[in-house]
Amino acid sequence: MSVFLPDDPARDDVLAGRPALWLNPGLTANGAHVADLPVKPVQVGEAEENWLALAPLLKTCFPELVASKGRIESELIEANNLRKALGYEGAEFGRLFVKADNNLPVAGSIKARGGVYEVFMHARKMAEEHGIFSAGDDVNLLTGKAARALFCQHTIAVGSTGNLGLSVGIAARALGFRAVVHMSSDAKQWKVDRLTRLGVEVVRHQADYTTAVEHARIDAEADPSIYFVDDERSQMLFFGYSAAATELARQLADAGVTVDKDHPLFVYLPCGIGGAPGGVAYGLKAIFGDAAHAFFVEPVQSPCALVHMMSGSSELVSVYDVGLTNRTEADGMAVARMSAFVADVMKPLLSGIFTVADDDLFRWLWLAQVSQSIRLEPSATAGFAGPQFLVNSAQGQAYADRNGLSDKLTGATHVVWTTGGAFVPEEQFKQFMERGASLVKKN
Ligand SMILES: *Cc1c(COP(=O)(O)O)cnc(C)c1O
Repeated sequence: MSVFLPDDPARDDVLAGRPALWLNPGLTANGAHVADLPVKPVQVGEAEENWLALAPLLKTCFPELVASKGRIESELIEANNLRKALGYEGAEFGRLFVKADNNLPVAGSIKARGGVYEVFMHARKMAEEHGIFSAGDDVNLLTGKAARALFCQHTIAVGSTGNLGLSVGIAARALGFRAVVHMSSDAKQWKVDRLTRLGVEVVRHQADYTTAVEHARIDAEADPSIYFVDDERSQMLFFGYSAAATELARQLADAGVTVDKDHPLFVYLPCGIGGAPGGVAYGLKAIFGDAAHAFFVEPVQSPCALVHMMSGSSELVSVYDVGLTNRTEADGMAVARMSAFVADVMKPLLSGIFTVADDDLFRWLWLAQVSQSIRLEPSATAGFAGPQFLVNSAQGQAYADRNGLSDKLTGATHVVWTTGGAFVPEEQFKQFMERGASLVKKN
């Protein structure tokens, strides 16, 4: 399939693999069209309640959650040193925060919010169906003998570029399930090794993410003892992620940040298939409405959400369809075709998508560590391009004009979502830092 993208100020840069900001023409104000979507804002609150109900069980399964009473949460950091290092000191950049999911417990990435949620929700439902658990029971029954005996007869499978596999594998093994992770060729060896040590079966595919997911889905359909966590279609993952919005809203309030039409909130979310950034963005729009402006960010060679949403096509458009390669060091975002479900949901809600070059990811990785001691993997740094695109680029200024924000930027808050990194082994992290240091010095 060869696809022609419509006329758009960002089109030529996107096709040439140069960094660009695309503004979503489908964005609508006042929640218009949101009622037509296949998901409802009340589901964000339900996910929050489910997380609370699971907390005592999570605390038992993962001792690192004792201090947080079973909540899987990350810090919100006002990154003033990093802000300087990035050149974002001017008043026009408002306040800059990092939402540090790179340090999220259990899985070391934003996937802890999705994968762990879906596995634990599935376990609870399975236990209910087998009469081991009912509403009102102590949720820690799910670590009991009867539950274990049930779970070890069942398999949880997933396709992944790495981090979703880690999250689902860790959660499944913690409850005693068998687990199979289908990895794309992008997956880093250390992620495979870590899963293997946990007793997870890892199937390596010499193919991209979309293909790995297809294999996993076909296997699962043929075997009723396999439950497939479907990253391309799962609403469970989506709403697990969405609860992060409630957490952020609470932390912003604690930091004295006002979010309203005069004090816009800009959030920059690294995007692979779209589930994690889509879930968070959906939650933020449910809470803050038009005062929240959600942007996705993707690698210049893997902008699957950008090319699909820009195309306006009803059929999914992949990055290969427009002549891009899907080659990137950012394994968390090495996805050639986005989720159709997320594309539909984001159409009226997403402000835009920008792209970043791999070299910049390594520069920011180095800067974040050196200036602020924030340990990131390459994918997790992509959002740092956000403030500069928004404040300084012609497209960013067009966005501000169109939305009546041009005189409100000094009162704005920018949140860069750093999506992973805590589990990167020291040796690998050293290599990332060396690459980053040499690029920073070259400049
Ligand atoms: C998975 C992941 C993303 C993107 O999430 P999607 O749900 O695939 O869009 C971004 N950054 C990191 C580090 C990830 O692991």
